[in-house]
Amino acid sequence: MSPEFALIHKHFTRPVTNATLGVGDDSALVRITQGCELAISTDSLVAGTHFYPDTDPERLGHKALAVNLSDLAAMGATPRFVTLAITLPAVDEAWLAAFTRGFFALADQHKVELIGGDTTKGPLSMTLTVLGEVPAGRALRRDGAQVGDDIWVSGELGGAALGLAQVQGLAQRDNEGSQSALERLYQPQPRVGLGVCLRGVANSAIDVSDGLLADLMHICERSTLAAEINWQDVPRAQALAAFSEDRQLAFALSGGEDYELCFTASPSQRAVLSALAVGCGIALARIGQTQAGAPGVQVFDQHGQAIKLPAAGFDHFSATG
Ligand code: ADP
Ligand code: MG
Repeated sequence: MSPEFALIHKHFTRPVTNATLGVGDDSALVRITQGCELAISTDSLVAGTHFYPDTDPERLGHKALAVNLSDLAAMGATPRFVTLAITLPAVDEAWLAAFTRGFFALADQHKVELIGGDTTKGPLSMTLTVLGEVPAGRALRRDGAQVGDDIWVSGELGGAALGLAQVQGLAQRDNEGSQSALERLYQPQPRVGLGVCLRGVANSAIDVSDGLLADLMHICERSTLAAEINWQDVPRAQALAAFSEDRQLAFALSGGEDYELCFTASPSQRAVLSALAVGCGIALARIGQTQAGAPGVQVFDQHGQAIKLPAAGFDHFSATG
């Protein structure tokens, strides 16, 4: 067996039960449930851009899969399969064992099967493609928001951005809740169950990967409407309380990587959503509403005054980076 195939065999080959054929052939084979559409999503993580090269590999394995599952959650899709193309600077057995430990722990939790991929040598990076199923016509899309919808967000925002600021030495890390901020950064929990429950309830959805303002703006653009947010209703990570109002705004509205779901729904769904929050064990906060108008997001304080906003979310190709 060639060293490359031995490595694939040892670290990436696991028995599959849902797929017809997994790792080891020229292609995987899967069957799609009748009446379902395939939801397909790809995300890359590049060392130095998305994570520090010395990041704990177990956390990295978790996060690489988590950010991809979050995209399926935002579509209301049930994750089924994943492929993993990984580029490694060298073969490091301990690193690979830890990476796959984190990866498969989350995969098992969501019953996702690794069915193929590619293994190459070069600067550390990984590209995953996840495949999920959603009943035909019922996916949660960015273009489905209606004028007059409530805007909702799950969980709390700003934790991951604060965690990153702590890692970068830009925020103190000794306040209450700073450990949970780091957890948010390293161990995001994709809201898969919630996404599935939102089918038929939400009109549109997106996952908060680049910051609430930037991500909600995508819904506005695709649905051709405007959004108003009430700042005091935005759920924030507890650790943010130690920071100035301006920094709280920046962490909670412009900071990325929380991987919560932002969605819109008719006001007639409020009772359904309250029950759903209890059922899923995930807090859901109603933070604003959509309006007719040019795509844009405005944020208001408790006095109804518009708040001047911090810069929008992260953009790899923006001039200011
Ligand atoms: P090919 O030469 O046909 O591209 P490879 O030697 O690259 O085949 O891969 C052999 C098998 O191992 C294929 O089934 C491929 O999908 C799988 N594979 C390779 N790398 C990975 C990986 N990192 N994770 C999962 N499966 C992998
Ligand atoms: Mg190959």
